[in-house]
Amino acid sequence: MAYIPHWINGKASDTKAERHGDVFDPATGLKTGEVGFATPAVLDTAVASAAKAFESWSHASLSKRTKILFAYRELVERHKLELARVLTAEHGKVLSDALGEVNRGLEVIEFACGIAQLMKGEFSENVSTDVDSYSIRQPLGVVAGITPFNFPVMVPMWMYPIALACGNTFILKPSEKDPSGANLAAEMLEKAGLPPGVFNVVHGDKVAVDAILAHPGIAAVSFVGSTPIARYIYETGTRNGKRVQALGGAKNHMVVLPDADMELAADSAVNAGYGSAGERCMAISALVAVGDAADRLVPKIRERIARLKVGPGAADGSEMGPLVTKEHHARVVGYVDKGVTEGARLVEDGRTLRVPGHDGGYFLGPCLFDAVTPEMTIYKDEIFGPVLSVVRAKSYDEAIKLINGSKYANGVAIFTNDGGAARKFQNEVEVGMVGINVPIPVPMAYYSFGGWKSSLFGDTHMHGREGVHFYTRGKVVTARWPDPKHGGVNLGFPEMK
Ligand code: NAD
Repeated sequence: MAYIPHWINGKASDTKAERHGDVFDPATGLKTGEVGFATPAVLDTAVASAAKAFESWSHASLSKRTKILFAYRELVERHKLELARVLTAEHGKVLSDALGEVNRGLEVIEFACGIAQLMKGEFSENVSTDVDSYSIRQPLGVVAGITPFNFPVMVPMWMYPIALACGNTFILKPSEKDPSGANLAAEMLEKAGLPPGVFNVVHGDKVAVDAILAHPGIAAVSFVGSTPIARYIYETGTRNGKRVQALGGAKNHMVVLPDADMELAADSAVNAGYGSAGERCMAISALVAVGDAADRLVPKIRERIARLKVGPGAADGSEMGPLVTKEHHARVVGYVDKGVTEGARLVEDGRTLRVPGHDGGYFLGPCLFDAVTPEMTIYKDEIFGPVLSVVRAKSYDEAIKLINGSKYANGVAIFTNDGGAARKFQNEVEVGMVGINVPIPVPMAYYSFGGWKSSLFGDTHMHGREGVHFYTRGKVVTARWPDPKHGGVNLGFPEMK
């Protein structure tokens, strides 16, 4: 049975924690490990180590920081299959999808390798006679990241490569459901030459999170997870004087106009609805078919669902794995039941699926609802499972009104061959990330990731320039080198001459 310890001051803790959580293989339902849960005292040790490390790391040259990030990038590239296997074993997603996750995380490390360009300030010569002004950006100190189960490698990588590149030291509190990827990352950072204490992993549940939010030694918190917790993190963290960015849940819509390429739309709906068993924050869960689009689209989606291979993530040929936990499986099945009782038409029922030899696994086959209406629970709530709801809209105007009425606003997509309609949509839709004939519009590392409304609390998105902005604070220097002709005592407000 594996034991997953905290990683503090450059090494794994050698004592077992007083409290722990169980880790399962979602494909079998068997317990595979235990993860130590931090107490506030453990967090104190991590903060002390990170604060000590900050004294020198914040002064390490840009070249030194960059060299370590390049070395780390090479290690992740070399070991990505190993990382992906660990992801599949604890999360359940299929191996190709896990590899895709590592690759998207790598993009952020590569972006952070360019930090020397990103932290450049501005300089103005002679703002007054013989006076120069310039701006610099400096790290915040010890910063923390609290991350969800669904991207245990990539989401932390949205945060720490940039935070470290900017000169901060970092404490990661990963999801307790699939914690091992964080420790592998810590080992690789250490091998890449990162000094002890610069990157720490503190495992745990609400106790560890609350200790982070209350700790006076932590300057900023980045969070990704569900909306109620994101709101709690933002409110508590900011009340305690911290800088906070908290990304929340989602209910992503995909609009299909009658002129769209229906083959592309059907492929995209299936990929984005059922990939990773719907456990992606950018998954499509509401397909808004305009005019007669649904009549043509639904049969095409059903044909594709019939061919999908659901099975253990590590098995060759599996396209969709199990859900993450038994509890989550029960919750998603509960939503499907509710959809039926509330009157939606269940045209594909994944509840009957059995995976031979894996009766204990948390498998649910793809579910497709038609004739879903905005009042239904399956339309309003984030389900986070392989459940796609088709909502029929009479017009583009009805579709956009529906989307802009949602409290979630993470990602959205439109499928059409009409450039004018797509342009109108990108302008009018109140959502942070928009895809045009692209169902999962996750921005590249050099753009920023984030939604609007209840999908993000705070004002900065993750990675890209906004990430650098979040992990640094600005300083402006106004300088004059002594000159015998200076103006002497003058109590007036400084004016530039
Ligand atoms: P979650 O909110 O349950 O957990 C996220 C983190 O918060 C974990 O580290 C967990 O240990 C901690 N946590 C859980 N309950 C807590 C509590 N009561 N008090 C303090 N901390 C607590 O989310 P999850 O189930 O791990 O992940 C799925 C959710 O994350 C979905 O809602 C999904 O949409 C969202 N998500 C959003 C994005 C985005 O970019 N907006 C990305 C990925 C996932």
